[in-house]
Order: sequence, then structure tokens, then C-alpha cells
Amino acid sequence: MKAIVIGGGIGGACAAIALKRFGIETAVYEAVKEIKPVGAAISIWPNGVKCLNYLGMKDALRELGGNMRFMAYKEYQQGQTMTRFSMDPLIQSVGEQPYPVARAELQSMLLDTYGRDQVQFGKRVTHVEESADSVTAWFDDGTSATGDLLIAADGTHSIIRQHVLGYATERRYAGYVNWNGLVEIDESIAPADQWTTFVGEGKRVSLMPVSGNRFYFFFDVPLPKGLPQDRTTVRDDLQGYFAGWAEPVQKLISQIEPQTTNRVEIHDIEPFMQLVKGRIALLGDSGHSTTPDIGQGGCAAMEDAVVLANMLQTNSLGIEDALLRYQEKRAYRVKDLVLKARKRCDVTHGKEMAVTEQWYEDLKTETGERILSGMCETILGGPLE
Ligand code: FAD
Repeated sequence: MKAIVIGGGIGGACAAIALKRFGIETAVYEAVKEIKPVGAAISIWPNGVKCLNYLGMKDALRELGGNMRFMAYKEYQQGQTMTRFSMDPLIQSVGEQPYPVARAELQSMLLDTYGRDQVQFGKRVTHVEESADSVTAWFDDGTSATGDLLIAADGTHSIIRQHVLGYATERRYAGYVNWNGLVEIDESIAPADQWTTFVGEGKRVSLMPVSGNRFYFFFDVPLPKGLPQDRTTVRDDLQGYFAGWAEPVQKLISQIEPQTTNRVEIHDIEPFMQLVKGRIALLGDSGHSTTPDIGQGGCAAMEDAVVLANMLQTNSLGIEDALLRYQEKRAYRVKDLVLKARKRCDVTHGKEMAVTEQWYEDLKTETGERILSGMCETILGGPLE
């Protein structure tokens, strides 16, 4: 059996690693010459960590992961703590800890695990064709590749999605812009072992530790879509949006590196239940694009990879049957994650300000129990529980 994997991002790389571990021949085709992830870092929650552990990256991941033992919310003007609690009950309950990691390092770990020299870069798929017993991907350089099945891990702008669904999907603007990057840890901004989030006015400023004494930071601001992007004004823009916010936030803005700070307009796609067609399977953001509000998009891609490989390995009724079983196992799970994230997104970013204000009030009486039990429920819905 030969699988063609389109896209060498988190989803494609994990799928290729998973299939290879079961002895399935794989070939990965990636559009760009060098992968430059859209964000600086990513939080891998225990459901995703378990998938990477399962795929043989347990030790490598620990080297990259930040030590995130506590979680805290702070009010925006004085920086006073609204709630602070240990992550330990979550870790005890699900059996693994979360790891925030720098994206470039995660990407390197995945490609090294698979075999970087086995990825064909600069191969952009333009269309795919299926026959009764094979599937062919055509690239923009006029070449093609044929296999027994094709895994479309070509991301949120997937061109293979339309082939599978039979119609075009629209990305939905979630209503806010996210700036993210990495800075050296400064404990006068936030503790080094804590996920710290300042909240107010429907905005957020968040810091998570990653390895190498760095914070992953992000700023969220509800804004109209399509405003100009200009790295030279990032610091001024953030100073404007966060005028009157507490001293640690001002300090963070003064310490960011505008040239490496990413600006992303956040989108998702209305969930759909069809993830496969014949010998083609959508995996990762091509099959489910979510806002990052519960940090599960990449984790879901890791879950997809594990489930797809297991279906192909354990099933003897053929590829099409295995892919349908993959769809059956994944469609409700990923729909649930997208809709949960959308709900959190709206509460956090002031879609209805009264609801957001109530959330701020609730945070002042939060002991950690409600937040952690919500996270546990999401994590325990993964395939390796
Ligand atoms: P991608 O990472 O987009 O990879 C797709 C790959 O396919 C790319 O390398 C691309 O070049 C290639 N490609 C595209 N088109 C073609 C083509 N035609 N032919 C060949 N190759 C092609 N997730 C989490 O789990 N935790 C988080 O904390 C988190 N934070 C996030 C923060 C932000 C700001 C954003 C935007 C997302 C976040 N996510 C997070 C989501 C996560 O980044 C995505 O879900 C994940 O990257 C999806 O991986 P993927 O492989 O499906 O897609």
C-alpha cells in the first residue's frame, strides 16, 4: 500500500510518521520550499501530547516543551490576579501534561522523525484524480504522483477539500486579530512556570513558557477584517490598543521584536461531516479549521493521524472501508472541537459584551475546578484515552 501525503505541516508530518510506523509506504509532497509556520508557538494539550508519545516522540517533545504548572487570569488595568491555580489536577486526571512549544522546533522534530530527505518540497498540488484502484495528485510543475490513497493535509486553504466535498467552503472571520511571538522570560511580566492571561475590554494578552527560557506571547484584539498589516507599526499599534493596561503588559509590548511578531486574522470554517471521498482523506485543517481559542487545531490533526493510521492498519476490508471508519471516528469529535472553540472565542472576545463582562466576574470566583474540568472533558475525548 502506498500513501501520498499532501502537505508537510503538523497534520501531514504526523500522518506520514504514523503510516511509516506501520510499514505503509509514504511519500510527502509540500508546496513551499521551506515551511514557515504561521505562528510562533503552539500549546500541545495532553490529547495531542499522547499522540506524539504514541508516534515515538515522547523524549524529543519533553526537550521542547515549556514547564507550565500554573494558570492565572489577571484584570487588565492594575494587573491584579482574578484567579490562579495549579494545573496538577488536570495532569493527574488525564495522565499527561500539556507542552507549549515553539512551532519551528515542533516542525523540525516532526520532519526529523519522519525523515526530512523523504519530503519533496516545492510540489504544489493543483488537482487530484481518482480511478477505481488509485489516486493521482498533479503538481504545478506538471509532474504527478500516484498511490493507493491520498491524505490531504494541505491546511485551511486546502484545494483538495472542494474535490472531497463537491462544493467550496468559505472561511469565516472570527472577529479578532492575533499577534504572536517569542520573548525572553522576564519574571517581572509573569512567572516562568505559569500560563498568564490579562483580560479586559474583550481583549487578551497571554504568556506561556516554552523551552530555552522563552515566553510564547499573544495579543488578541477584536477588529474589523482587512486592516493594513505593517510590521514597522506593530509596537505603536499594540500600545494604542492596550493603552491604560497594566505595567507588565506595557513592558511586554516594549520587549517584543516587531520583525518576528506575527499578525493573524482569526478564521474558522463551518464544520462538515464528510472527511473522505473514495481513496482520499482530509486530515488536519483541511478537514476542520478552528479558531485557536481552545488550542486544539494542531492537537486534532495529531489525533487524526493516529486514528487514520490505526484504521488502515487494523482493517482488512480495503482502503475505502478504512477511510470511512476514520471519518466515522473523527467527524463528530472535530465538529465538537470547532464549535467549542467558536463559543469560547465569542465569550472571550466580547461578541456580546455583557456575556464577556459576566465571564470576567466569574473568573474572580474561579478556583480552577470549572476551567480544568472543561479542559479535561475536551482532552479525554481524544483517541488514546
Ligand atoms: P498547516 O499547518 O497549515 O500545514 C499545511 C501544509 O500544507 C503547509 O505546509 C502548506 O505549505 C502545505 N500546502 C498547502 N497547500 C498545498 C498544496 N496545494 N500542495 C502541497 N502542499 C500544500 N493548535 C493547537 O493545537 N494548539 C495551539 O495552541 C494553537 N494555536 C494556534 C494559534 C494561532 C494564531 C493559529 C492561527 C492556529 C493555532 N493552532 C493551534 C492551530 C494549528 O496551527 C493548526 O490546526 C495546525 O497547524 C494544522 O496543521 P495542518 O498540517 O493541518 O495545516
